[in-house]
Amino acid sequence: MLLEVNRPRHLIVGRPAIELANAELWRCLNRFKVVLLVEPEERTEWETRLSDVHFVRVLEYDASLAYELQANIRRALELVNGEPYNAVYVTFRPDDELQDAVNTRLGTIQVGGAVGDVMPDIFLRDFPGDLAQVGNQVGLRRLGHLAESLAVVADGVAFGDAGQIVSQARFFWRQAHIHDRDQIAAVEVIFLGRYFPTSDVRHEKHQLTRRILKAKECDPRGQPLARALGDALHRLAFRNPTIDIITRVPPKQSRPNDHVRWLLRKGCRIADSKFGDDPSLESRLDVGVLRCARDYPPQKDARSYENRDENVRGAFQCIADVRAKHVVIVDDILTSGSTMAECARQVINAGASSVTALILARNQNVVHAFPLDPACDVVGCSGTLHPIFKNTDPYAMFWGCSKFREDGCSGGKRYYEGLALSNQLNTRDDLPLEEDIDF
Ligand SMILES: [Zn+2]
Repeated sequence: MLLEVNRPRHLIVGRPAIELANAELWRCLNRFKVVLLVEPEERTEWETRLSDVHFVRVLEYDASLAYELQANIRRALELVNGEPYNAVYVTFRPDDELQDAVNTRLGTIQVGGAVGDVMPDIFLRDFPGDLAQVGNQVGLRRLGHLAESLAVVADGVAFGDAGQIVSQARFFWRQAHIHDRDQIAAVEVIFLGRYFPTSDVRHEKHQLTRRILKAKECDPRGQPLARALGDALHRLAFRNPTIDIITRVPPKQSRPNDHVRWLLRKGCRIADSKFGDDPSLESRLDVGVLRCARDYPPQKDARSYENRDENVRGAFQCIADVRAKHVVIVDDILTSGSTMAECARQVINAGASSVTALILARNQNVVHAFPLDPACDVVGCSGTLHPIFKNTDPYAMFWGCSKFREDGCSGGKRYYEGLALSNQLNTRDDLPLEEDIDF
């Protein structure tokens, strides 16, 4: 995962299946330079079938290289004279290859497969068809991790204002730390995107992350999330079973802000005025379904997933009549899943026929070390350069010296120069991985 991908021009496609060697299909990506990393034995066939698609280059994947994926990505970039911050890596192998690709700091697209703990920038069910569709909607200008506030890829087809929509059936069944998993095995979990904790280099720039933090304070800048929730609920209401009750994970009594309720009310109203669902989403909203029965210690202090599960056990009560109802429980961030699992369990124990968990963002637990900052190049200055956000428009941003206040150093770089420097520094083979210290 690159710190920031802007206007990507290069797609590096990792080991696609030979069945995809359809020239017509690949022509829909003509705004990119595409490098296919193919298995050596398939190279000739790929080249033959794509011989008249000139923007696609075929490169044999060399599995003998040290840090093989990083090394192959570098070869691919050299082939097209590309820069990492203009490139996106497409993987068909979510389990091992996606993790490695995230470590390269390119933007990432996962095609098909199940959702793992590490999520890509964009999920696509179908490649390259869906990618062309995403590109038409958002111009692909922000296909990197900043894209989540702009592009929705819901079941591969729908678009809106929020992040990617990813659904995981039987999510809790796969979470070994959660007790009595069979009780909640049928709960489907839906994520609208990712959350990067402060220990992650992406924390400062990721739109969905920033907006969630704003929403936690009920700051108007968090409001786009309300629209996202409303859109998602509207879509869920059309499925079978439809939504009977919408509720949320209740805040602890000691928490001043009930920000999820704030978002939900706004979201339901926005969706109702837009779609006119009958009965209205707002009439199905009932924030009194669950109450927090005891003030449990902060989950992030629990240190392990097992402790988190223990921490919230019995902390919630279902106090509404949910018998034979389909209940959607909403929360902002899911880390271990323990809090949501406990809420879902209470609602199911109270007789709900089914539960869907709708989550704004999944906490990403495997993170990079902090980024290396480019040095200020003013003679005698020991400062480092950082992006200065004048506003949200990248064209109004620049990189300024950390010694500006202290020493009045006016060293700096234009935005894209600083971005290139920073990404050169941070796109290396040997950056260490660290455990997420927030978790
Ligand atoms: Zn300086």
